[in-house]
Amino acid sequence: MIGVDLGGTKLLAGAVNADGTVHHRTNRPALGLDQIELVEMVAHAVQGVRRAVGGEVEAVGFGIPCTFDARTGLAVQAVNLPLHDIRFADIMAERLELPVVVDNDANCAILAEARAGAGAGCSEVVMLTLGTGIGGGLFLNGEVYRGFAGGGAEMGHMVVDMDGRPCQGNCPNWGCLESVASGTALVREVSLAVARQPDTPLGHALEAGRELTGPMITDLAREGDAVARGAMETIGRALGVGIANLVNIFCPQVVVIGGGVSAAGDLLLDPAREVMLRRALRPGRDEVRVEAAAFGAEAGMIGAALMAREAVA
Ligand SMILES: [Zn+2]
Repeated sequence: MIGVDLGGTKLLAGAVNADGTVHHRTNRPALGLDQIELVEMVAHAVQGVRRAVGGEVEAVGFGIPCTFDARTGLAVQAVNLPLHDIRFADIMAERLELPVVVDNDANCAILAEARAGAGAGCSEVVMLTLGTGIGGGLFLNGEVYRGFAGGGAEMGHMVVDMDGRPCQGNCPNWGCLESVASGTALVREVSLAVARQPDTPLGHALEAGRELTGPMITDLAREGDAVARGAMETIGRALGVGIANLVNIFCPQVVVIGGGVSAAGDLLLDPAREVMLRRALRPGRDEVRVEAAAFGAEAGMIGAALMAREAVA
């Protein structure tokens, strides 16, 4: 099975076994291509993996950060890719002469975690992906939940503070979880805190001209920097409020936290667990595990392949 994760900046593809192990990985830049060039590049990348594995490929799965109309299979709109109203699955199936499955990248990621990652063996899994924003995925009754029109589970835009700050991007709301618990919120939290505590490793790094980024904060938090750890705890506590809501609504067995910020592990998750335990209802709060994602940046690719496997089985 071949899985493809087509992001705004690059494509990641590989051959994936049933247990989620990946071999013959390849990646290609996707920036600056128009729709025709993009389709061409994707087809070439898949053919490359197909030749490399040498054997039979039964199907190809694609994860794309795009909204799909579940009724027509039309890729409606992608924020960061030049795909508009295109029958991507049909075009790829014709080009590759293979069965093709296409879904939103967040849906692919949660399928990977639910089938073979942090939620393996579970029927109810909720996933939050912390990056620039907060993405979400739901796995309910043993299946990816897609909503009515395939819009997906925008759990990053649940309101945790009715009178909170304006949300990001196109969101018209205030006080969304994304505005207080994303990588963007982490960077904002740190830039406020470091102004008060400049004589710290983080303060010195900024003084030396280093750019303030999520990965840099995560690294310094792991090394014990007080400012980075404090900000991580603030973000973790805000995340815990969101998780408490999700535990009350879905009563999942596992809440999986993915995205770059999740590399902080328990520095982020312990405050989140503590707040969730104080705020959520029984029995959900006593049963649920809050875990870091197992597959990191490869979850979309792995999930896309697993989705293709299930579609042709
Ligand atoms: Zn929002």
